[in-house]
Amino acid sequence: MSRREGSSAIVIGAGMAGLVTARVLSDHVDRVRILERDHLPEDAIPRSGVPQGRRAHVLLTAGQRVLDGWFPGLADELRAGGAVAFDTDGLVWHQGGASWTASDLGVCALSMSRPLLETTVRRRLLRQRPNVSVADDTAVDGLVLEDGRVVGVQVDGVQHRADLVVACSGRHTRFLDLLAERGFPAPEVSAIGIDLACGTRVVPRQPDDLTRAVAVEVDDPAQGRRMGRMVPAEGNRWIITLGSFHDDAPPIELAAYEDFARCLASPLIADVLARTEVLTPVLTYRMPTSRRRHVERLDRTPAGFLVLGDAICSLNPVHAQGMSSAVLQAQALGRAIARHGLTSPQLARAFYRQAAKVVDAPWRLAAAADFAHPCTSGPESVGTGLVNRYLDMVLRACRTSIPVARQTLRVQNLLARPASLMTPVMVLRVLLAARRFSVAANPAGHEVGNPVG
Ligand SMILES: Cc1cc2nc3c(=O)[nH]c(=O)nc-3n(C[C@H](O)[C@H](O)[C@H](O)COP(=O)(O)OP(=O)(O)OC[C@H]3O[C@@H](n4cnc5c(N)ncnc54)[C@H](O)[C@@H]3O)c2cc1C
Repeated sequence: MSRREGSSAIVIGAGMAGLVTARVLSDHVDRVRILERDHLPEDAIPRSGVPQGRRAHVLLTAGQRVLDGWFPGLADELRAGGAVAFDTDGLVWHQGGASWTASDLGVCALSMSRPLLETTVRRRLLRQRPNVSVADDTAVDGLVLEDGRVVGVQVDGVQHRADLVVACSGRHTRFLDLLAERGFPAPEVSAIGIDLACGTRVVPRQPDDLTRAVAVEVDDPAQGRRMGRMVPAEGNRWIITLGSFHDDAPPIELAAYEDFARCLASPLIADVLARTEVLTPVLTYRMPTSRRRHVERLDRTPAGFLVLGDAICSLNPVHAQGMSSAVLQAQALGRAIARHGLTSPQLARAFYRQAAKVVDAPWRLAAAADFAHPCTSGPESVGTGLVNRYLDMVLRACRTSIPVARQTLRVQNLLARPASLMTPVMVLRVLLAARRFSVAANPAGHEVGNPVG
């Protein structure tokens, strides 16, 4: 990879998007500086700039594969640190009226606390890429513009110059607003009102908590708007997240929290809660909207500046696609730089087009699922009802057809595009399998989909 001599880049934010962006830039730029406003702890503990960091973070297969290419052996290092890998054998998925698990279908999620992932990736980045540095306790408060080009950032009144500035400052980034104040167009924003409220507890994980599985997902719209997820994390812990959409927040009082879990369509999470004697508090989190900034539609952007990660698209976290989406966006940035060069005025437009392609699939999938709730508000694409009815059939078909289940999981793990579920062969499989499912009185004993406890 050719680096331009003397070139430099600044990345704003040391979250997951910032770290992977710095990794990609280090191939093309002599010096990469990450500026992070938080104090970055050495140990894997939560920090205030990433409030979602106390909630379960599952790394999907697509993100894992790319990360493992950039940081060889990373997955093993995470596992050595206590992360738990699980394939479809290890997941109890309660969906559509029954619990099911499937034989290994070739996708594998990695579950851990977000701080473990972030600190491990940060350490590897700094160890492996000597041209990358991180300055913490450093809040960027402005961009430096000269002749319509961003040439650096401002920190406490001091200018730091760079050939390229990439803002990975998360969902609430202000940098596009600052540019709008300086006369650049602001991107259109799509916001989907999901009114998600989550309550998370971290409890000890006992060896006999589940018989054959290591993770539980209960997401059954037919049973109401409540969902639950129990995933393993380092230190032999469960991270349990109960959630709901639209005004039905999980309570913070422990007994009421357990009652809420008991109302889910599967008792597995409530059973674990009932057995735990450790009284950890319920941590709450609310996300009123999923939000996408359509940077790809901007007709004018300053050269030398990009946004990436949640700053472009902050997805409904229920689908666990945010970090993998950031990784795939960073990969697209590498391709765009290789093609157009670091300082090209074409870079932003080329990258934003590629980033939009990355973001489109998870955004549309999540939006379709969100609009299954009648209270969800926002721009609903034409045909969403039809798509939802089909996806519902796909989910049922997963239980009786291994090819459908495999492809569905590939799509959910961002390894394949949603359109791959709509080829004529797949539609036929889905129709036949969904029919087999509805004919059977009891879903137990199907090809895949044996209820487990
Ligand atoms: C409840 C919840 C659960 C989630 N679960 C999952 C999951 O299971 N799997 C998954 O893949 N994704 C999950 N996500 C999404 C995931 O957290 C994000 O998509 C991912 O962290 C990418 O974010 P980012 O790096 O763009 O932003 P962030 O993680 O928000 O990081 C932004 C960084 O920028 C820094 N910053 C901001 N402003 C400045 C400034 N002016 N100067 C310097 N630094 C600044 C912040 O301090 C922070 O460190 C979840 C999200 C939520 C809300």
